Amino acid sequence: MVAIRARRLFDGERMIRAERPTVLVDGGVIRSVFDGPPPSGHEVVDLGSATLMPGLIDAHVHLAFDATADTVAGLVTADDDVVLDRMRSASAATLDAGVTTARDLGDRGYLGVRVRAETAADVRLGPRLLVAGPPITSVGGHCWFLGGEVEGVEAIRAAVRERAARGVDVVKVVVTGGRLTAGSHPHEVQFGPAELSAVVQEAKRHALPVTGHCHAADGIADAVAAGFDGVEHCTFVTADGTNVDPALLSRMAAAGTRVTLTLGSVPQPGDHTGPDGVDPRRKAVHDALWRVATSGVPVACASDAGCGPGKPHGSLAYAVLAMADLGFSPTEALRAVTSGAAQVCGIADQVGRIAPGYQGDLLAVHGDPAIDPGALRHVAAVFRAGLRVR
Ligand SMILES: [Zn+2]
Repeated sequence: MVAIRARRLFDGERMIRAERPTVLVDGGVIRSVFDGPPPSGHEVVDLGSATLMPGLIDAHVHLAFDATADTVAGLVTADDDVVLDRMRSASAATLDAGVTTARDLGDRGYLGVRVRAETAADVRLGPRLLVAGPPITSVGGHCWFLGGEVEGVEAIRAAVRERAARGVDVVKVVVTGGRLTAGSHPHEVQFGPAELSAVVQEAKRHALPVTGHCHAADGIADAVAAGFDGVEHCTFVTADGTNVDPALLSRMAAAGTRVTLTLGSVPQPGDHTGPDGVDPRRKAVHDALWRVATSGVPVACASDAGCGPGKPHGSLAYAVLAMADLGFSPTEALRAVTSGAAQVCGIADQVGRIAPGYQGDLLAVHGDPAIDPGALRHVAAVFRAGLRVR
């Protein structure tokens, strides 16, 4: 039994400014949370003036991506041993940043399944991982280089069965194009309704959730109509702007479609901005994301770490800052990387809250992140399953 104390506590829902809260963890699980000093006889970890909160959940990362300007080349020229080493480092950097659960939404060769086993066996190596394996994509489609190309209904069914057999936690389908892949465009769809329905039917047989990379409104609509559990990005981009569909958002809210916003980046020299200092296209996307996130759908805020130089592994704090910049309160942004992200990932009964019965995954940061979310960049301690790992 270990008693962890701090100045204040964010429980995944709200900030509790109590008389120095104490969290008791035993057997890797939170047993009780109360104000004031721990009973005698327990090992006490006193984190002084820090804020205690649930370990962060990054609902969308790519451990296999090297966060350089040419992520694709970095991957296609590397053999599996190199990629595996990169994923191990990325995993460690993610845990360094206080992320105790991460969902890897696209690897090559199911390497994520191996890393998941390694971080489960030794919690100091990285976060709990949920993995998708290679994302299912069209021939030559977005992220084809990860090895998940399929064509036609039977092939897509077989791809889902293969992923189930390999032990993935979630099926990821690339429903629309993306910016990262040459010749692929976010405003274009890659699959028809029959293929998307086949994915959901097959995944249900294996009790696997399905999430879709969807930028264009048509792709979001098709995924929701097919019964996808989740939508990634959800930017509603067109060739030259955005076209948010309020009726579609209402259907998503009614269906409980879970949305992962991928936001923010570490500022880079030469970031493009317009004459008034604001990139107009980025502004349109931000307006769209605000409308998505206020429509009543469950929302996670994630990094998409690995995708480029502005998205190094362990940069989830910048996603939280970006969500606050959209207009959300710091507390709302914190929920989107704790309790909200757990709901989106389908693990809301295990992680994302500091409450009895939840995993002893905790983060302590210097400062008060409900006042300044930038405090998330100042990690004081990280616990996984009750063990101090940072
Ligand atoms: Zn991604």
